[in-house]
Amino acid sequence: MSLDPQRTVAELKELRELTGDENGAQRVAWTDTWLKAREWFQSKIKELPVQHHYDAAGNSWTTLAGASEKTLIIGGHLDSVPNGGWLDGSLGVTAGLEVLRRFAEEFGGRPPVTVRLVDWADEEGARFGRSLLGSSAFAGTSSIEADRGRTDKDGIRLEHAVKRCGFPIERFPDATSEKKNAAAYLELHIEQGPVLESMDLPLGVVLGTKGVERHAITFLGQEAHSGSTPMHARRDALAAAAKLALEIRTIAGKHKDAVCTIGSVKTFPGIVTAVVGRCEATLDQRDLDARILAGMYRDAQEASQRFAREEKCTVEWSRIWSIQPIAFHPALLGFCEEAVREVAGVAHRLPSGPLHDAAEVARSGIPSVMMFVQSLRGISHNKIEDTKEEHLEMSVKALDRLATKAARWILDSAA
Ligand SMILES: [Zn+2]
Repeated sequence: MSLDPQRTVAELKELRELTGDENGAQRVAWTDTWLKAREWFQSKIKELPVQHHYDAAGNSWTTLAGASEKTLIIGGHLDSVPNGGWLDGSLGVTAGLEVLRRFAEEFGGRPPVTVRLVDWADEEGARFGRSLLGSSAFAGTSSIEADRGRTDKDGIRLEHAVKRCGFPIERFPDATSEKKNAAAYLELHIEQGPVLESMDLPLGVVLGTKGVERHAITFLGQEAHSGSTPMHARRDALAAAAKLALEIRTIAGKHKDAVCTIGSVKTFPGIVTAVVGRCEATLDQRDLDARILAGMYRDAQEASQRFAREEKCTVEWSRIWSIQPIAFHPALLGFCEEAVREVAGVAHRLPSGPLHDAAEVARSGIPSVMMFVQSLRGISHNKIEDTKEEHLEMSVKALDRLATKAARWILDSAA
């Protein structure tokens, strides 16, 4: 039997049954339910001519050894957010498994190149607030000292949670040894946004992951009595922040795929009878182009200073976090486009707003690409996350074609 995309859909449902409840998927990394999902995966590879091991950071590797040591890696993640969807991450693993089966069968257990399937540990960072934990250890960009003391909502430390699963955090850096012979990385994921659905397209070619500038912005004015302070005499910190919240639409609107979000605003003293003396806001800016991202950051800073002046306030900025944009590999983008066109007729290219493990793999220097399949209503990280079954099946077919093209490319470049 060759590639069977219906089996992928059936297995996704099986996994949902086993690890979800009425509120959605509960495969939060380092929990018993997550371990159960990984056990389920083990049961699926028993009959295959593969080797399996966990690396030092808890990433799960299934290897189909080929005639060449040069390796094609296909990835995904079985972990979910609490009350998550049934497809986020798990589609990449189950579709990758189907492609692995097809390679094993077509080549009698020994394909021309080595093919490996990786289930990354803790992509979501849902419990400790540290996303891409396993893939950053693989890439060599992990930050053990900053991460070990992170705690979950019950006060359990990250270093204890990972140790309980058999992976002491001190050993995480050893996961970089898995990079040996890696020649290409492919990841299929649901879009988690509304773009493909709005264009009525089942599949998309992902150009890269957007860079992120994330900042805390504090406007400082003067707390004052709401009854006795005339309007012209106020130094209202919220007024300045509110102007900025509207201005970021204009700042982002100058660029095609850019986004800016003020996701949190806190006012102090925060009572009904006082003018706001201090306002703390957060700003998240994203774009695929580093120059555009830097320009938007500058624009927002200038605007905040202008609005602070207008409202007789001052403003302070501090960076919470940032990451540069990651562009995927041109040759693999070309193969991805061919594969999507062969299966869906049209190939649209789009950037990814969310970060993915593929960004860590790409920045470690391994040629990488991602493929998106349409998300219904653009919703994810929620139990109503869904994709049409016919689209899921198309995505498995397209990933398989992409894998064949990438494997051929690996062999040609080695020759
Ligand atoms: Zn995901």
